[in-house]
Formats: sequence, C-alpha cells, structure tokens
Amino acid sequence: MTTAGERAAWLRAELDRLARAYYTGPAPEVPDADYDALVRELSQLEEAHPDLVSEQSPTRRVGAAPDAAFSPVAHLEPMLSLDNAFSDEELRAWADRLTRAGANALDLAYVVEPKIDGLALALTYEEGRLARAGTRGDGRVGEDVTANVRTVASVPAALTAATGRLEVRGEVYLAKEDFAAMNERQLRAGERTFANPRNAAAGSLRQKDPAVTAGRPLSFLAYQIVGAGPAGVSRSQHEVLAALRDWGFTVAASAQRVEGLDAMLRAVAWFEEHRHDLPYDVDGVVIKVDDFSVHERVGATSRAPRWAIARKFPPEERTTRLRAIEVSIGRTGRATPYAVLEPVSVAGSTVSMATLHNADQVRLKDVRPGDLVIVRKAGDVIPEVVAAVSEPGRPRSAPWEFPTSCPVCGSALERREEERDHYCTNPSCPARQLQQMSHFASRSAMDIEGLGEQRVGQLLGLAVVADVADLFALTVDDLAPLEGFGEVSAAALVRAIDAARHRPLHRLLVALGIRHVGPVAARILAQRFGTWDRLVAAPLDELEELSGIGPVVAASVRQFVEDPENRQLLERLVRAGVETREGEAGATEAVLAGRSVVVTGAVPGYTREEAEAAIVERGGTAAGAVSRRTYCVVVGDAPGAAKLRRAQELGIPVIPAAQFSELLDTGTWTPLLEGSEA
Ligand code: NAD
Repeated sequence: MTTAGERAAWLRAELDRLARAYYTGPAPEVPDADYDALVRELSQLEEAHPDLVSEQSPTRRVGAAPDAAFSPVAHLEPMLSLDNAFSDEELRAWADRLTRAGANALDLAYVVEPKIDGLALALTYEEGRLARAGTRGDGRVGEDVTANVRTVASVPAALTAATGRLEVRGEVYLAKEDFAAMNERQLRAGERTFANPRNAAAGSLRQKDPAVTAGRPLSFLAYQIVGAGPAGVSRSQHEVLAALRDWGFTVAASAQRVEGLDAMLRAVAWFEEHRHDLPYDVDGVVIKVDDFSVHERVGATSRAPRWAIARKFPPEERTTRLRAIEVSIGRTGRATPYAVLEPVSVAGSTVSMATLHNADQVRLKDVRPGDLVIVRKAGDVIPEVVAAVSEPGRPRSAPWEFPTSCPVCGSALERREEERDHYCTNPSCPARQLQQMSHFASRSAMDIEGLGEQRVGQLLGLAVVADVADLFALTVDDLAPLEGFGEVSAAALVRAIDAARHRPLHRLLVALGIRHVGPVAARILAQRFGTWDRLVAAPLDELEELSGIGPVVAASVRQFVEDPENRQLLERLVRAGVETREGEAGATEAVLAGRSVVVTGAVPGYTREEAEAAIVERGGTAAGAVSRRTYCVVVGDAPGAAKLRRAQELGIPVIPAAQFSELLDTGTWTPLLEGSEA
C-alpha cells in the first residue's frame, strides 16, 4: 500500500512535470480540471500530515521557473497566484476568513472581474514610456518579452500624464473570434491547430522572433497598477480600473463593483450565466476587496493575496476514452465525423458524443479510436474533441480513415473540390430528410412545438410523409397509432403544425435551409420584400445592394429560388395553407428606423447575431464600421479599439452595453454622466 508520504512525493513530481509542460512547453498535457484535482489531493494530504508540508510544494509556489531562452526580469513586487473557490460555500468561507482578519466581509464592497484565461503580464513604464514587459515566471523573476509585447496593439507604447516608474499588470489573451480565425489559417496552411486560446496566447507571446508574435492577434486586458502614478492616489480597485481606462488600456467592461456579500454572490452567478457571451474564454471570476486599506490589513501568503479569490466555474475540458469515430449525415448531406466517448461530465452535463468537424481535423489532431482525449464543451456549443493525450508506451490503433460510403444509405461519400467536407451523394438519403425536417420544425425556424428529431423520424416512417409540405396534411388518425402518441398528444401536434402555417416570412426563410441565410439575413430579406413572391422577383443586383446581404448570400438566395424543385415545394406549402408574408402581427416597433447602430465587443445576454437581429428587427441597420452616419456605438466587453477611436474622432455617441435594452425599447438612451449627451 502507498503511504501518504509516497503519494505526496508522487503528486509533487507529477504536478511539477505537468506545470513545466503547461508554463513552458508547447501544450498542456491534461485539462486544468485534472491538474486542479491533483493539487487539491496534495493540499488535503498536506493538511492532514503537516510534516509533509514543504515550501517547494506546488501548493505553495507560483507558476514555474522562467525559461532560460529569455532574459530574466525581476518584478517590482511579486506576481502572485490566486486562491481558488469552487462553490458559493467556499466563497463564504473566504469571507469568514476576511472577517476574522478584521474586515467586515458582509458589508464590504467588492469588484467582481472576469477571470480571463490567458497569461499574466507585467508592463513597466518609465516616464510614461513602455520600458519592459515580463511574464510571471515563478512570481519573482519572469521572462523578458518586451520586443514581442511591443507588437500587441492594445498595449499602449506611451502613457500621457504618467511619471516615474510604474508597473501595469493584466492578462494577455486571444479573443475567441481571433483564436478561431487563427486556427482556420493554420488549417488552411495544413498545420496543426492550437488546443485552446490560453495555450495559443502563451505560445504566441513566448516567441523568439517578435515578427511571429506580430502576426498573432493578441490582446491585453489591464487590471492592476503597481507603484506610483494615479494608483498612488487611487484607494480602491474600481478607481484603478477607471485610471487604466483613462490611460488607454482596455479593461473588462463587465467588471462590477458590488456592496455586500449577497450582492457579490449574485454578481458571480451573473458571470456564470453569461460566461459564454464574453468575447474571451474565462475559467471563472476574480473577486477583489475594493478598498485598498483592507488589502494592507489582510496581506498575502507566499502564494496568493488574502484580499482576492478566484471563483472557478465548472470545467469545460475533461479527459475521457475515445471508443470509436463515426460519421453523421446533416440536412445538406454533409458527413461529419464524431467521437463516441466513454461518458464524462463536462460543464455540468454528461457528454458521450463530440464532434470532430471534418476529415482534416481528425488527421491534424491525430485522434484514433482507443486514445485518451480531451473533450471540450462550452455553453451551447456542440462538444468537441480537442486533442489526444499522449500515453507513452501504450499501443495505438491505426490512423482513422474517412469512410467512402454513407453509413445510412450506402451511397458514395464525396469530397467536393474546394471544400473540406464530404457529402452523401444521394439527395433523398433518409438521414438528410430527417435533418431537413427537424430543422424546419426547430425553434428558430417554424417553431413546431413537440416535433423533435425522434418524432420526425417516426413521421418519416409513415407512407404519407415524404417532405415538410406533407406535415400540414397530417391528421390525428395518422399520428395516434404511433408509439409514444395518444389522442391528446396527436391532437396537440396537429395544432402545433397548424399554428406554423401563420409564421412570418423570415421564419419560413430560415426553415427552408437556404445556404448562408441565417436569422439575421432572413429578417433583412423578409423586411425588405414582405412576401415570398416579391423576393423571388428580385433580381440579383437588388439583393446584393441590401445592407447586410452581400454577394454570397444574394447568389445563394437566387440559386435557391430558381431551382424548380424548391419552387415546387413552395407551391405545395402555399397550397397547404402556409403563409409567405412577413405581416404586421407581433412586429416590433421600428424605434431605430433608418438608424445605423454599431455594436462592438460582447453585449451580455446577446450573441453577436442576436444583438444585430434585435437592431434590424427595430428597423435599424447593424453596421460593421463607424461612419458619420452612425447613430450610436454600443460598447460591450473587449470592444474594438479602432471603432472607439473612430467614434471619438467623429463625435458619435458611445453607449454602454447596459443601456442596449433601453435603446431597443425606446430608440434612445439616458446619458449616464453629465456631459455625455445623446
Ligand atoms: P490561476 O490561473 O488560477 O489564477 C491566477 C491568475 O489569474 C493570475 O496570475 C492572472 O494571470 C489571472 N487572472 C485573470 N484574470 C484576472 C483578473 N481579473 N485579476 C487578477 N488576475 C487575473 O492560477 P495560476 O497560478 O496561474 O495557475 C494555476 C492555473 O493553471 C490553474 O487553473 C491550473 O489548472 C492551471 N495549470 C494547468 C496545468 C495543466 O497541466 N493543465 C498545469 C499547471 C497549471
């Protein structure tokens, strides 16, 4: 049997090895949740056996020693880590500790900030000029990455009105969009993709050649000032964030100052709910006591301050065994490879399948049946396999080959030229029909309550149902004998199908599955033309000229409406009583009619598509660039610096994300501060 001492020694060696790979290697070996679980086990052992405690333990240290490939930089003050809380309970325990240390935690003010999953960076400014940039390293000495950091657009090269020497700290990260675009480029170049934004940001910053860093879309978000400057007079975290913003740094727009423990817990819950609306990956929030005099009173341990804590959210990456790779057929016939997994709990739900996207991704990630793999599930996004975990000495199966025939109908699978996807060549493949009909009935399309994939499968088994137009002829007698149906549920489904006859045109456009026509484009088209017949009559150039449509969508719409089969389907739908006009019913008041609104950064509670659709729905245009004609700029989290600068130059009103709903309701907003007139 292993003794506690042996287990602790093994844990330390293993954690050292994993930390080296994470901080200085090309890629982490395991997800953070696995690493954190080992740290927890070690600290529990150390608590139970105080004789096992050592200052060298990974539970006491910060980060890892700096890499000798970079010159060392000593930090003005140590760059510490943060203690973790994994539940509200643990946050309350932290608050109790603060109270015992002499601060009344129940009534304190806190600043709750997103915990961006990037890497910490310290920027030293001398007489207002950027002099040095260092990574955290082991907390005392970091790596000199100055030349690389000078290529990061959101790091100001000079600060006006800052004198002496001061240090600004924050996080270098890759925004989700930038990360996706970067991986897309890697894929196109036939190179390996990066496992996650943190890893890609670290790899991009810690480059020997600054030109490589310059080519990577890194961003910087500031959260701390060390040393002189406005911080010398700032007495609180919220004042520091304001000072940083005034200097031209980007700070988290979603950061909240709250008073009291209960309000703090509510703010944490808000972040947990909205974590996926932020433009960057977060693994939790950081809660800081606002008042700096409390910081001085409670101090820090060798590893972390006592006045701050990281509340981690449920992990979105876990490891599990890949049982098999299979292929599914979508509504356009696209064949998507997916992983069949040993079930694992990720981000609070059990995952047993995950997408592998396409043949190139399987090849580049080199995942094979039998491998231990990292699975990621973020919000509503479909779970995906990120990478295989290396298991030295364990034999692997042969690389997986893409099948040559459709697993459902047996027809050939073909890879179209210029496309990275394979398609089933049979237009009436049962899998395609199933997906088409499920999409037609889905919430964002015709919204037929009670018609999910399973029931669609049953309906397609009926002789009377071949396509979506046939749905409208279904009777209670057709449905009642089906398994799982009774008179009542059959009648309910018939009613739900009947209700779908009266949906506005934009929903029908989504339901038809026209390539490139999502909810936003569908609304623009429906609002412009009002009826299907007028849309069909519109020539290509008229479509192309529509703001928000463009040549790709326009061509796709034309192609769809010219196809005789599609025309026939439309005729049958109309004969079945399906309306094909936008109508006034339920229309939202056009409070933004003729106005062009620019949204930059993430607006909490809305995806980018939803925010744009909400503007269009109110008669406005959701523009991508600020111009003289812009009505206002809505600023969410991590906004585009160029857009803000342009708005300032042109004197266009800039309104915070918190007032977006007011803008949608009334078409205007209440200025928050005197002088920031609408
Ligand atoms: P941490 O990431 O839990 O917390 C400290 C860091 O949070 C700071 O250094 C800073 O960089 C960052 N941060 C982000 N937003 C912040 C904000 N608003 N205010 C202040 N700080 C903010 O701790 P750590 O010491 O960097 O490292 C531990 C983390 O690294 C854990 O999540 C662990 O799972 C991971 N790790 C993983 C592996 C692995 O093998 N997967 C190995 C080692 C470490």
